[in-house]
Amino acid sequence: MHLDYDYIICGAGASGLSLATALSLDPLFSKTKILIIDPEFPKVVDDRTWCFWEEEQSSWDEMIFHSWNNVLFKSDNFSKKLSLNPLSYKMLKSKSRYKYSNQIISKNLNINSSNAKVLDVLDNGEYCQVKTSSGVYKSKKVFNSILNWDLINNTQKYPLLIQHFEGWFIETEEDFFNTNEATFMDFSISQNSNTRFMYVLPFSKKEALIEYTLFSDSLLNQKEYENALNEYLRGLGIGKFSIKSKESGKIPMTVFPFEKQNSKNILHIGTAGGWSKPSTGYTFKNIERKTKALVKFLKQKDNFVKFSKKTRFWYYDLIFLDVLFQNNHLGSELFTQMFKNNNPNMIFKFLDEKTSFFEEIKIMLSFPNGIFIKTILKRFFKIN
Ligand SMILES: Cc1cc2nc3c(=O)[nH]c(=O)nc-3n(C[C@H](O)[C@H](O)[C@H](O)COP(=O)(O)OP(=O)(O)OC[C@H]3O[C@@H](n4cnc5c(N)ncnc54)[C@H](O)[C@@H]3O)c2cc1C
Repeated sequence: MHLDYDYIICGAGASGLSLATALSLDPLFSKTKILIIDPEFPKVVDDRTWCFWEEEQSSWDEMIFHSWNNVLFKSDNFSKKLSLNPLSYKMLKSKSRYKYSNQIISKNLNINSSNAKVLDVLDNGEYCQVKTSSGVYKSKKVFNSILNWDLINNTQKYPLLIQHFEGWFIETEEDFFNTNEATFMDFSISQNSNTRFMYVLPFSKKEALIEYTLFSDSLLNQKEYENALNEYLRGLGIGKFSIKSKESGKIPMTVFPFEKQNSKNILHIGTAGGWSKPSTGYTFKNIERKTKALVKFLKQKDNFVKFSKKTRFWYYDLIFLDVLFQNNHLGSELFTQMFKNNNPNMIFKFLDEKTSFFEEIKIMLSFPNGIFIKTILKRFFKIN
């Protein structure tokens, strides 16, 4: 059987590009024929900012737009400045990340691209067929990063929250911001029976990204995001400002078993593969870690069904999302308890899924126990 490609990558956003870059840089894949399919490839836009935490030095440092050593957590009756040392909270703009990958990919003569739209992906056990708006391609393997919201929306078994947000890059007339400190979560705003917070990333004394974020089950109308942002800026005492640009988005917060869509020859990657941390939406560093693991896997194994493994963190995310889904008004209280009672480095270690079981028990005990036990029991009887 003649195949057009060894690998087809559907979607060239963060995860598709990450994989194409890693394969291009690895001599073992120097003869691998790859097709990238994305109507927007190659992207050269700032369509999102990516923030993540890590130790000072990393390969991202050349692209970093700004980083912070301290972050602030705030709610109605609690405020804490968190020193992250040895971690820093880093931000990069998507355009620089896309540019970096596009440069590497363009030098790989074995990579072709198509601006078609992927319509369907099939695995017949021997090879894959990718149906697109401009034809059908056959390949040995497919990596699919196209998120199917219908699939997760139609599943009742697991709680589904959406992380949705509207952010403004603003410039003030007067000096206002402290560039050493980012506001990680400010819950001291109207909660309106949801989990709502503000996120402030200052880049200069006059410039910052202010983002209004919700973890809830439905989106707001556009005016509501705008009113909340204006009200918050007024509350901070920022009188005059101009909006330089905006970003908005939605990320699924779910433990939906994305890996069940995988087959021997099709692997779902990125958010579509469950690489977004369900309880926080953070994905960027997961994409880096999973890409590394995937390249290693490709050198040793053939069956993608074996790529993903469920860990105990899946259960923690499930319970946390269950609690937040059933008690969406309690988000401020739950995050306050977490930041009040734990060292920030431990929290970030936990979110990176690198803690020991003993450390996880300590973190869990810092939450109000009753509601978690009730939810665990409810879930346990639902599952069984
Ligand atoms: C505005 C925004 C800000 C975010 N900020 C952070 C952050 O600070 N930190 C963090 O860790 N995570 C963040 N995330 C979450 C996550 O990191 C990003 O969503 C990330 O881009 C996910 O990568 P991906 O490859 O799964 O999806 P994407 O990057 O969205 O890539 C999917 C690609 O598929 C293409 N595509 C879609 N449909 C088709 C089709 N039918 N055929 C072909 N191609 C198609 C799209 O054009 C796109 O390029 C953010 C998300 C958003 C939306």
